[in-house]
Amino acid sequence: MNCPECDAKLNVPDDATVGEIVSCHDCGADFEIASKNGSTFQLKQAEKVGEDWGE
Ligand SMILES: [Zn+2]
Repeated sequence: MNCPECDAKLNVPDDATVGEIVSCHDCGADFEIASKNGSTFQLKQAEKVGEDWGE
């Protein structure tokens, strides 16, 4: 499973469930597991709700 953003390897646990957030260690992007098909996951960009960048 690779990061859709930077193509780095993402660590998605085999027992990860739909709705879990996976973070890329390389680019810092967050992805939500949108669906799971066997050992294949579909990722979608996680929405950054309430994220505070320190204004
Ligand atoms: Zn990445």
